[in-house]
Amino acid sequence: MTFESLGLCPELLRALAAAGYDTPTPIQVKAIPEVLAGHDLMASAQTGTGKTAGFALPILQMLKQNGERVVPKGVRALVLVPTRELAAQVLASVQRYGNELKLSSTAIYGGVSERPQIAAAARGIDVLIATPGRLMDLMQQNAVSLSGVRHLVLDEADRMLDMGFLPAIKRILGKLPKQRQTLMFSATFAPELRDLANTMLVNPVSVDVSPRNSSAVSVEHVVHMVEDARKRDALLHLLHAEPRQTLVFSRTKHGADKVVRFLDSYGFNSAALHGNKSQNARTKALAGFKSGEIKVLVATDIASRGIDIKELPAVINF
Ligand code: AMP
Repeated sequence: MTFESLGLCPELLRALAAAGYDTPTPIQVKAIPEVLAGHDLMASAQTGTGKTAGFALPILQMLKQNGERVVPKGVRALVLVPTRELAAQVLASVQRYGNELKLSSTAIYGGVSERPQIAAAARGIDVLIATPGRLMDLMQQNAVSLSGVRHLVLDEADRMLDMGFLPAIKRILGKLPKQRQTLMFSATFAPELRDLANTMLVNPVSVDVSPRNSSAVSVEHVVHMVEDARKRDALLHLLHAEPRQTLVFSRTKHGADKVVRFLDSYGFNSAALHGNKSQNARTKALAGFKSGEIKVLVATDIASRGIDIKELPAVINF
């Protein structure tokens, strides 16, 4: 798959070549044609998937092809983001991809002087990237008008809700025309976010590129190379080094029981969790682990899905 086959114009293709992008990422392959076709989009995608180009490229192209001129204080495309850092980062991407298109773009966010932002808004902005709080401030001062917005993007929508921006987002939505394209990007879709999506998206195309079985980036991974005969000693050593709690994964049920007997003989409060245990024993083991009473839970992969343990310090794949 190439960017050309996604229907992007020569100006954008040259900018992508200059940026060193030769192949579109999965989210770009799925999102770009849908956005160019004018559809609303609900995309499940994390940072690092290339989602910024997934919305920025088709929006830049549509703004160019539409040929409308932005009016003073007007905005043609609005991208809402949760943080200042992300606003600055998205603006840099928009400017890089659009450097041949002669469209104006600005970021509006808090913590810096309003004056240059008000001046930029006064001239009109083709692509505005904003955090909800500062945008509300400028709207209240009549420094910016959103009545001409044709494209709206909510980037990192779950994060915006976590940060308490829902009321601001709703008020901003109230100032936008109903006739517009809306794209929502989020790593997760909790019920509150689905409700918001239902009120703001019209027949959205769903795109999901969340990587399967991916671990959070904040997890540090370490591999210890040990001979089979010394694995248990290595486990003891690691458990002594981690005074809080550890979840140990064993490949087999029998292996899990053996590890528990071994750990018990060294005085560790441990329990096994696997499919040969009664539901009662499984529930008890998990509850004991969640309460902190059990220090080491030795489990087969039945425990590897959907278990939400707060602040689990360490996992060992034995
Ligand atoms: P994002 O998920 O939008 O934050 O993008 C993550 C990183 O991937 C950024 O540094 C982008 O510049 C880069 N990137 C996005 N799309 C591509 C692509 N098709 N080829 C190479 N790098 C890309």
